[in-house]
Amino acid sequence: MPIPEALQELHSLLGNRLSRSKPDLAAHSANESYFDLTPPDAVAFPESTAEVAEIVKVCARHGCPVVPWGAGTSLEGHALAVRGGVSLDMSRMNGILAIHPEDMQAVVQPGITREALNTELRATGLMFPVDPGANASIGGMAATRASGTTAVRYGTMRDNVLALEVVLADGRVIRTGSRAAKSSSGYDLTGLFLGSEGTLGIITELTLRLHGQPEAVSAATCAFADFAHAVDTVIATIQSGIPMARIEFMDEAVARAFNAQSGASMPEMPHLMVEFHGSPAAVAEQAERFGEIVAEMGGAEFQWATTTEARSALWKMRHHAYWSCLALRPGAMGLVTDICVPISRLAEAVRGTRADIDASGLQGPILGHVGDGNFHAILLVERGNAGELAIAKALAERMADRALRMGGTITGEHGVGMGKRGLMRAEHGDAWDVMAALKATLDPAGILNPGKIVGGN
Ligand SMILES: Cc1cc2nc3c(=O)[nH]c(=O)nc-3n(C[C@H](O)[C@H](O)[C@H](O)COP(=O)(O)OP(=O)(O)OC[C@H]3O[C@@H](n4cnc5c(N)ncnc54)[C@H](O)[C@@H]3O)c2cc1C
Repeated sequence: MPIPEALQELHSLLGNRLSRSKPDLAAHSANESYFDLTPPDAVAFPESTAEVAEIVKVCARHGCPVVPWGAGTSLEGHALAVRGGVSLDMSRMNGILAIHPEDMQAVVQPGITREALNTELRATGLMFPVDPGANASIGGMAATRASGTTAVRYGTMRDNVLALEVVLADGRVIRTGSRAAKSSSGYDLTGLFLGSEGTLGIITELTLRLHGQPEAVSAATCAFADFAHAVDTVIATIQSGIPMARIEFMDEAVARAFNAQSGASMPEMPHLMVEFHGSPAAVAEQAERFGEIVAEMGGAEFQWATTTEARSALWKMRHHAYWSCLALRPGAMGLVTDICVPISRLAEAVRGTRADIDASGLQGPILGHVGDGNFHAILLVERGNAGELAIAKALAERMADRALRMGGTITGEHGVGMGKRGLMRAEHGDAWDVMAALKATLDPAGILNPGKIVGGN
């Protein structure tokens, strides 16, 4: 019985920061996904890298699983302790260790959330732009290689993490990367840990690239008669080199959900939601050029949000889209798909997905970060209805197949977790075995977040 022994040792180490209380177990047994509740055996709340290393050493000695937990907003069951063990809640390691304004960098602990970080940065004139909508932890965002609405301009976590401190499965603490803007120094271990979902190591410190807060910002929505014109507008805009800060697509069902839930008064038509960053003159010019493209594509109903309050309301509505869409079918849960295709195939991918959803009988609003070719269908499934869940999963699989046939990927930003593991062979072929070999090298006993990314078919 290795787990009770591990828990006893961890209790000696952490005292009441090792919790087995029902509320703590329950809070770490589910996340924003459709998977069954899977409580861990205990929740540990470390406060330093040294403590994380000690916890991992204890768990390694007893073969006890360790599953890092950031903010629990991931969508593919990533942070669930499916083999039991310890949920390692990183929320108390939430400090900013250094800000280097002259280099536009910050060194942070993994538990800080993106909103808290940006609040702290406000007075510096700098910002951390990666925005997955949910108020995720920076550690969780690194571990899922997250992105979101602003990736079209500022890139993903891959582009904005320079260096890491990581606790390995045997308790060793290593550093990857540096504060230099670039390096040719050996294998890219920072890149390896980004997107590794807690399966290769526990991230205990991150050096982030910051960006200047834009002098001027302008945002707008515009409507289109059909999605094809909206998507063609995106493609034309990207190809024309207008430096969009955000360009989001939402279909008529999402507009309906916004009207019902957020008190918006959008025409129930496909929309683009856009934002421009820069100097006042640059923003004005970008907006004008974008307006010309929209007019050529037959778009209309421009609604500008120029004040900070109006913009916040707009993006708050967008960030709450998941819950607004859920409310379209009371009592439903959402299976959120996440494919990404080359921008030239975007219209075809959205069209194929729409037809497939319509034929399935399910409701499935579509929205996405289309500037990157990344979009989601939120498939609304009656809670407890196994038949509908099976239909939704089959639909999601066909979306993934379609993305692969178009040269895309099964997940643009949400990651693999449990939900996408069965699709990994199709995307990666023998390269998936290389991932498994890396996992076996770095975590031979398989204690770090077992049951995720690798293993299986
Ligand atoms: C409404 C909604 C909208 C979303 N929109 C987006 C979006 O636009 N773009 C996007 O990318 N994602 C999106 N997501 C998904 C989610 O927000 C991201 O996956 C986010 O990066 C997860 O961060 P978290 O802190 O919640 O991590 P968690 O869910 O707690 O954990 C995610 C994974 O990271 C691991 N992990 C956590 N912390 C560490 C650490 N310190 N070291 C090692 N591993 C760790 C966990 O074990 C787990 O495998 C959305 C989610 C919701 C609910």
